[in-house]
Amino acid sequence: MSSMEEIIKWCEEVAFDLNFSHAKKWKAQDKTRVLVGYLPIYIPREVIHAANGLAVGIMGAGDRKQIIKGDAYYQSYICHLPRGIIEMALDTNLNEFDGFLFPAICDCVRNLSGMFKLSKKGRFQRYFDYPQNFDPKIGGVFYMEEIQKVLDDVYKINGVTVTIDKLNKSIALFNKNRELIEKIYSIRQEFPWRLSAVDTYHILRAGLCITVEEHNEILEKVVKLIQVEQGEPMDNIRVIVSGSFCEQPPIGMLKSIEMAGCYIVDDDFMLGSRWIIGDVADNTHDPIKAIMEAYMDKSTFASCIYDVGNPKGKRLVKQARERNADGVIFCAASFCDPALLDRPEMQKECDAAGLPHINFQFHENTGQFKVIKEQAGTFSDSIKLWA
Ligand code: SF4
Repeated sequence: MSSMEEIIKWCEEVAFDLNFSHAKKWKAQDKTRVLVGYLPIYIPREVIHAANGLAVGIMGAGDRKQIIKGDAYYQSYICHLPRGIIEMALDTNLNEFDGFLFPAICDCVRNLSGMFKLSKKGRFQRYFDYPQNFDPKIGGVFYMEEIQKVLDDVYKINGVTVTIDKLNKSIALFNKNRELIEKIYSIRQEFPWRLSAVDTYHILRAGLCITVEEHNEILEKVVKLIQVEQGEPMDNIRVIVSGSFCEQPPIGMLKSIEMAGCYIVDDDFMLGSRWIIGDVADNTHDPIKAIMEAYMDKSTFASCIYDVGNPKGKRLVKQARERNADGVIFCAASFCDPALLDRPEMQKECDAAGLPHINFQFHENTGQFKVIKEQAGTFSDSIKLWA
């Protein structure tokens, strides 16, 4: 893979392969390798990597799977993501996974962890709780204990001992990964026409199903390719898309927003890949503590975090200013409680800062984008004419 077209095509195939064939092939090469599926938003993938595992992001079935059993497991008034994932679990899609982590983001995901347990999917099904207390001596200690439980789960399967050295090496690899992703966002901030938001999405999402070493190689190539001028700048506005941190928006919707005259210069899709802002210390005698400290001090903002001291609305406005964005598109999954409950406060901050915004909701399998395209197009025109 050397051209951008080849990279994007490969990434798209891997990112949307609901059978995770690439990850399963990786596992088949060594008996001590384990596959750990995790749901949005974030888990410290470094610890799985150090234990000879691959943490695979399960971001939902999108519009690529017919949901039959999933609808029987959940009431109609919840988001779509858990139905698609339980459907995948009850079919054969997740069969070779060794375990699953369910980050504590909402009741739907918590209930899904129980369904996996009852269905005996994988050898462990762990509800992974984040601390909501940011005192390292309280929340920090709790978080390190949570991480240790995951390491114990994996050890019971493959017997691989995680050393300080292995952990530091894994941390360095994921630091590199985030640095390269940030580099891509920085180049796109200045030259968004060089790589569309949809192509960026495919490249990042592929990274959730392959090893970090492979992903870093791909990202290095992409950074090199987009440093060269290509494409034509358009008379588009620049927007931040906020609220899609869990259930992922359909690709057709992202295309519609772009075609309606909006460059998406930042977003919260697959936020776990960019959760820690900056580096985790990668040369310490206590790497788990380093991971905890990074979580405490360097986490981005999202609706699953209690943020009284550092409100999300203000951070969103700051992000928009830093990205030189003209406006915000609030775009959350239908029935996504965390995103929709946060939205009014965030809108209030945008109003106070004079930052225009619109909002709509989606399902991961939405197929009709005409209304969204019209809304985004009107937003773009109104900013160009009157802002
Ligand atoms: S989309 Fe929202 S409500 Fe649904 S599982 Fe994710 S966080 Fe929970």
